Amino acid sequence: MTPSATLGIYVHLPFCPYICPYCDFAKWPHRRSASDRYLRALEEEIAATDARPAVTLFFGGGTPNAYDASELAGLIARLRERFSLRAGAEISVEVNPELVRDGDFARYREAGVTRVSIGVQSFEAVEIATLGRKHTPEHVEAVVAQAREAGLDSVSLDLIFAVPGQTRAGWRRDLERAIALGVDHISTYGLTVEEGTPYAAWQLREPRAFADDALEADFYEDAIDLLEAAGYEHYEISNFAKAGHRCRHNENYWNNGEYLGLGVGAASFRDGERSVHTRDLEEYVASVQSRAEIPSEKERLEGVRRAGEAAMLSLRTAQGVVPGAFKERYGLDFLEFYAPIVEEFRTAGLLEADADRVRLTRRGRFVANDVCAAFVTYG
Ligand code: SF4
Repeated sequence: MTPSATLGIYVHLPFCPYICPYCDFAKWPHRRSASDRYLRALEEEIAATDARPAVTLFFGGGTPNAYDASELAGLIARLRERFSLRAGAEISVEVNPELVRDGDFARYREAGVTRVSIGVQSFEAVEIATLGRKHTPEHVEAVVAQAREAGLDSVSLDLIFAVPGQTRAGWRRDLERAIALGVDHISTYGLTVEEGTPYAAWQLREPRAFADDALEADFYEDAIDLLEAAGYEHYEISNFAKAGHRCRHNENYWNNGEYLGLGVGAASFRDGERSVHTRDLEEYVASVQSRAEIPSEKERLEGVRRAGEAAMLSLRTAQGVVPGAFKERYGLDFLEFYAPIVEEFRTAGLLEADADRVRLTRRGRFVANDVCAAFVTYG
């Protein structure tokens, strides 16, 4: 399959009912007038974008279900037409469990949504409060049941570990509750403290409240142990899926496939160029309305740079790098070109490498970001 045959569409819906103190995404508090205006701008951007056939569609945020199900259905219909999305294409929506209303998922299903990703983060009351969230575990159970009743193909949960004050026992209970719900897919993210957020100020005041690297590794190990034992495949550093439930949209990113991002702050990768739209909401809306080019940062990825990015992305996955396919696509002999760092990481027990495959070992998964980054900067 050529890269363009896997085009994924990402749509950013940036409004949230409230702002979480650790969040660094492009997001704004939900106000009807602003969200209506943004929706109109998005529709104009869709209409003005080159129509190319796409195979997946992903609504992320922000909180996509701050919009009504009927508004999302309208957007899906436009996108389906513009990008020739076939019936049965994977269409994912991230949802905040607090905002799910009766009948929402049935409407999503009618509109063609196949998967929902529920932003749970934690089932533990203390962690939920620390993260600034407001749902209850019962709430999440009801939302999962609703997704099942509506007949959605895949239900995914997001969980966060290394929350200040979190214990391993509490984290293991989180994982056990997620497993007990029988969801198809679970994403686990280590909390990262981003500059400029209230969490960054908290960390400055009270660094000891935050997990150190050793504790963070323990949390991650618990996730791998419990989820693999429960039958989830650890198919990417942060993602676990039951058979047949991997997220194809995200797999396309890791396969260095092409994607088109629509909306404020959205990223695209097409024809060898990576671009990211402005994160300024007003600037985004005004440029679309005036039919001007949306201000974006652009960078062309070529040669060794492009190969390094591809290596980094592939190494995030359980499949790893297949040297034969890598050579065909990027013109580089992976094992020869990267020999010094492959050898260094292999000797350190972080990579396993032979002529057919190069991938992270279990130990390597714990320092995946460092290993992957070495390939981006190499050469
Ligand atoms: S709901 Fe998500 S996007 Fe919105 S503020 Fe919280 S973490 Fe950020």
